[in-house]
Amino acid sequence: MFFRIRELVHERREEVARILTAEHGKVLSDAIGEVTRGLEVIEYCCGIPTLLKSEFSEQASTGIDVYSIRQPVGVVAGITPFNFPAMVPMWMWAPAIACGNTFVLKPSEKDPSASVWTAELLKEAGLPDGVFNVVHGDKVAVDAVLEHPQVAAVSFVGSTPIARYVYEKATSKGKRCQALGGAKNHMIVLPDADIDMAADAAVSAAYGSAGERCMAVSMLVAVGSVADPLIEAIKERIPNVKVGDGMDPSSEMGPLITREHRDKVASYLEEGTLVVDGRENCPDEGFFLAPSLIDDLAPGMRAYDDEIFGPVLGVTRVATYDEAVRLVNDSPYGNGAAIFTRDGGAARQFQFDAQAGMVGVNVPIPVPVAYYSFGGWKGSLFGDRHVYGPEGIDFYTRGKVVTSRWPDPATSKVDLGFPQTR
Ligand code: NAD
Repeated sequence: MFFRIRELVHERREEVARILTAEHGKVLSDAIGEVTRGLEVIEYCCGIPTLLKSEFSEQASTGIDVYSIRQPVGVVAGITPFNFPAMVPMWMWAPAIACGNTFVLKPSEKDPSASVWTAELLKEAGLPDGVFNVVHGDKVAVDAVLEHPQVAAVSFVGSTPIARYVYEKATSKGKRCQALGGAKNHMIVLPDADIDMAADAAVSAAYGSAGERCMAVSMLVAVGSVADPLIEAIKERIPNVKVGDGMDPSSEMGPLITREHRDKVASYLEEGTLVVDGRENCPDEGFFLAPSLIDDLAPGMRAYDDEIFGPVLGVTRVATYDEAVRLVNDSPYGNGAAIFTRDGGAARQFQFDAQAGMVGVNVPIPVPVAYYSFGGWKGSLFGDRHVYGPEGIDFYTRGKVVTSRWPDPATSKVDLGFPQTR
């Protein structure tokens, strides 16, 4: 079944990518990239017999064998955000169904069409009716899912306040829950970094998908003398980012999701030192905002503290590595954190120091490959299991240990003592 699903998604990935571009606005190449990363999770699930293999201990006691098995939890719900309408649901439904559960998807009401496309594709692949289900709606639908007594587990991805709400409500009803929240990802650049490489990475990671990615780099932490040349290099690159209709192959960045969101993002351009103003030079029709760059931000400013979730890159200047790490660790979020340097010792130290679930070394968006798990720390994740990869398999299954003996009259006797190995 999963090989068939994999083949169908692979064959049709451009078809669903076009739906994403038309509805969400991200450029087509980015939409194809989203589907490709989701497909990797489906491919991982093709190995489910191996992933569900358990342990066996022969002759743990006289005539006794002990083994563990993993079983599905039952009905699983997935509640997903607008920014990855195909990939984030794939992080959930693929492992949930591969582990033997049924799945109810409550997609974002802002771009729900990819979920309908997925339901049709899974039916065509031969998945029995009732295994994958879609419920549309907003808070009302979410609350119905959270209150339903037959829903055993809930996976959520979205903003931090809603993640906290979903986690508290689901667990108060006795459900298992993993709720991934928002982010404010810092990219530290040390003075010895390759400036061109760091500038390319910052522009790609801050403005790709119009900054509407939970792993986008939104704060650049420039250490010591690197600040001026780095800002200059980023400033030079920004005019080359082509903003326009996502279906136009020459566009590199599309619009934001709604007019309200575009206006909210633009409201952050009032603090610090505005180096590049994205309100200039962008298409008039649609919810466009071109890349913006703000220098001299610091904790306590809205543009530093809030998750902006748009094409705005902030810069904060610090004198030392220790100050930079303190900024990362003082953040209420802990999704991704990256360091750019040529110093292996500093990079190695950073991987231990950073209080974030996903760390990049000269990699700005360290989204783990499908055979690791994705998830943040602090306000970026409520719950104790990350999504997909081995932790996803754990989340969607329950463990059981079987202690077994087959009849052997020779050793059978009444014994009221606590079972011990002999
Ligand atoms: P959101 O929190 O507004 O919505 C997410 C889901 O929750 C949607 O299905 C929505 O219908 C539902 N919802 C919204 N308001 C609700 C309410 N009051 N009660 C119950 N349910 C409600 O998020 P969004 O704007 O769709 O997505 C952007 C956010 O998602 C950003 O904060 C981003 O960082 C985050 N995100 C996080 C990750 C991650 O892996 N940590 C990945 C993608 C997106």
